[in-house]
Amino acid sequence: MIVMKFGGTSVESAAAIERVAGIVRSRLGLRPLVVVSAMGRTTNRLLAAADKAAAGNLGDALRDAEDLLAYHRREAGRLVPAESRARMEALLEQHFTELEATLERIAAAGQVTPALWDETASYGERLSSALIALIFPAFGIPAVHVDARAVLVTDSRHTQALPLYSRTYARFKEQVAPLLAEKVAVMGGFIGATASGETTTLGRGGSDFSAAIAGAGIGAAEIQIWTDVDGMLTCDPRVLPGGRLVKRISFAEAAELAYFGAKVLHPATVQPAIEKNIPVRILNSRRPDVCGTLIVADTVSCRNPVKSIACKRGITVVEIRSLRMLMAHGFLRRIFEVFDRYQTPVDLVTTSEVCVAVTIDQPRYIGEIERELARISDVNVIPDQSIICLVGDALRETPGIGARIFTALREINVRMISQGASFNNVSLVVRDEDLVPAVSALHEEFFREVDPEVFE
Ligand code: ASP
Ligand code: MG
Repeated sequence: MIVMKFGGTSVESAAAIERVAGIVRSRLGLRPLVVVSAMGRTTNRLLAAADKAAAGNLGDALRDAEDLLAYHRREAGRLVPAESRARMEALLEQHFTELEATLERIAAAGQVTPALWDETASYGERLSSALIALIFPAFGIPAVHVDARAVLVTDSRHTQALPLYSRTYARFKEQVAPLLAEKVAVMGGFIGATASGETTTLGRGGSDFSAAIAGAGIGAAEIQIWTDVDGMLTCDPRVLPGGRLVKRISFAEAAELAYFGAKVLHPATVQPAIEKNIPVRILNSRRPDVCGTLIVADTVSCRNPVKSIACKRGITVVEIRSLRMLMAHGFLRRIFEVFDRYQTPVDLVTTSEVCVAVTIDQPRYIGEIERELARISDVNVIPDQSIICLVGDALRETPGIGARIFTALREINVRMISQGASFNNVSLVVRDEDLVPAVSALHEEFFREVDPEVFE
């Protein structure tokens, strides 16, 4: 058994769903459980309609719902086989009657409560999964729909619910796994329900999390996350084209890269899979023959000490200098309290006896932060910086890495260096304008030759 998860862009149109069907059909022997997101931008559109209803524009909200109905009917209608047309119409009818009722309740309440937010957002995955289960047989895939709300049991923290693992796993094992002997089960991601049956969601982008939970529940051999990129690369293609595909990466390495790689999955969402030692593979639904990136629990040995170079532009460095810090205690606490008060996450930190430098990527309150810090220290705010992060499990035991980094960067001024916190990465800060030459030089240094076992 495997889990195959397809995101919103992978199911956004009839053509996209047809591609998905082709991919699933070619893997029928692996007995897949298919987890799907809402089609295209449906979740955003549903939530926009909810906001309109809350603001008193029920008419507009209902028109949005009509548009969404038309979109689902048009795209699914191209693929649903003739014998299931009536069933499709009944499904659309039933869901949109319910959605209208939800929007009316929001209008009456004058606000989108967390429970109503979940209720509204849930229609996207409820519809996509039910429609795709109707479509699959037309492509020779015997399919059965699974309502995620009947198996994924969560707490009642609406909009950010967490699964009640043992109950959820038991239901997947008893109710879903047996179905896979005969059919492909199709389930919506992102949604679940409390023990008393109230609809909940796992938070935006939660379908990857659903896939991991489902995989852990059925004891899948692999969890495949089908998306619109080939997998993780040795460098960010927006900064430096021509990077190599990383075929295998450890969970710890993927976790370090997550902060940078907005497009690829967030490893925290696949934690349930990692805990059960189930590998997670990232694949491209537009290029299904590319092997993708396999994320595994153990370290991946590799002849290259660095597996990937990630980066982030537009970072602000805050240098805080104070002679009072010399031999004093409690100074760092006072500094971090200031960032905390303005809910500004701090990413990198470096310190010397009299100076602390930190990076932030949300400079919204930087004026206030600077003013408060100035009461206890000299502050220097330096905008337009970039973080470069070299990740590799072998970094900790490979001598000479520092020499290689600084030789490669000999023409470039490095403002901050941080290594050691998690052993598997070295992070550097350079000026934004130096980012491209710095990444090129480092990539050339560390990927001139690549281990064919790990890189494509
Ligand atoms: N449809 C949900 C969202 O847009 C969940 C997901 O796509 O993973 O956030
Ligand atoms: Mg998504």
